[in-house]
Amino acid sequence: MENKNGKLFIITGPSGVGKGTILKKFFESNHNIIYSISETTRKPRPGEVHGVNYFFVEKEDFEKSIKNDEFLEWAKYSDNYYGTKKNFVLKALSQGADVLLEIETQGAKKIMEKFPDCITIFFTPPNLDELEKRLRGRKTEDEEAIQKRLHQVKQELTLAPLYKYSIENDKIEDALEKLQAVYNKEKDIQILKQDGK
Ligand code: 5GP
Repeated sequence: MENKNGKLFIITGPSGVGKGTILKKFFESNHNIIYSISETTRKPRPGEVHGVNYFFVEKEDFEKSIKNDEFLEWAKYSDNYYGTKKNFVLKALSQGADVLLEIETQGAKKIMEKFPDCITIFFTPPNLDELEKRLRGRKTEDEEAIQKRLHQVKQELTLAPLYKYSIENDKIEDALEKLQAVYNKEKDIQILKQDGK
């Protein structure tokens, strides 16, 4: 798929790795890149807001959108659907805006196939024990969901080498600085290309 204007950034990383916290800070100081709000059939966690964190939808509606080919990508993750709506992202890119998708590995793979020029970033935890601690610490999943997510995490980590950048989230500030450096660098490449230099 051709993308002449804006750049597409894909952020992936296991559940509990801290992507949400890093991205929240990232968007506080980067206003020229748009966060694509996904649809999900997962129930909102305390504090999550419809239209901010996700669009929380019913399973039937999500499946209808799949049938109508409305998703750029979608995946089933831990018994719930998650997906990126096509219209919003394609329109933003065609208008020259950079767009960031925060998605899991199956969806990221589909996007990499459709947009070979996308910039892919994988967040890794310092180690699995730390990740488990963070997952349990947020107290939003029951034991079964935690076990499912931990199993998924181990599989996801094997895919990190497919990504252009890998950032370890040991300390939030360091990870944020690295993400900013990647964004600044990739933005500059875009400007150079547009200038024809
Ligand atoms: P959570 O339930 O913790 O918010 O998200 C679970 C996983 O789904 C995370 O790895 C998150 O990045 C991913 N995710 C969120 N939105 C999307 C989406 O639109 N598509 C895909 N494929 N994954 C998503």
